[in-house]
Amino acid sequence: MPYVLTPPAPVAVPVYGSAQHFPVHRIYCVGRNYAEHAVEMGGSGREAPFFFMKPADAVLLAGPDGVAHMPYPTLTHNLHHEIELVVAIGLGGNNIAAADAHRHIYGYAVGLDMTRRDLQNEMKKQGRPWSIGKGFDHSAPLGAITRADQVTGIETAEIALDVNGQSRQYSHTSQLIWNLAETIEQLSAAWTLRAGDLVFTGTPAGVAAVVAGDMLHGRITGLQPLRVQII
Ligand code: MN
Repeated sequence: MPYVLTPPAPVAVPVYGSAQHFPVHRIYCVGRNYAEHAVEMGGSGREAPFFFMKPADAVLLAGPDGVAHMPYPTLTHNLHHEIELVVAIGLGGNNIAAADAHRHIYGYAVGLDMTRRDLQNEMKKQGRPWSIGKGFDHSAPLGAITRADQVTGIETAEIALDVNGQSRQYSHTSQLIWNLAETIEQLSAAWTLRAGDLVFTGTPAGVAAVVAGDMLHGRITGLQPLRVQII
């Protein structure tokens, strides 16, 4: 088919232990999915899950040096880190029952839901959409995807983020308010999930600011670590 423009190449995430890549379709994110973080953001910790999105090309991958280089974004003075377990969807569907959700998971990765917190807070205050605070360029640094059949214990994994060697966020995925299967069930009731979708499943407590020069090290037991330098 002739196009009037050259279509962009798909965003392609490396699959650990393979020469193949995972092509990204959409990025869904869950808000406030660890109780202590929900409380630090002003909630009760018991709300139903809610969702927002980032554009697929917000994904930022590591360079040949193994580090993802993230330019400090425009318009903000309060860039926050949110370490998250990311689920890669390998089989689409809608109204997926939690009991079937595991069949739809291709694999997992360590991700950062980078947030222009000052802009997000201003939009919240005004009742406006969060896109400018959440869906900006390079706002989704992502490590390599590990296939689900190569991971054990993902539901009880340690999830942690260090900045310049100091611990900032530390929890376990068992502390998710809505677990992976429940998240897929609720998400697929609202949207038809497709192979290639990514789901950022929420961040534990400890979100805070980073500045240019900071080195972030995110890790989840059993997955490839994510290293990001703010430049
Ligand atoms: Mn988040």
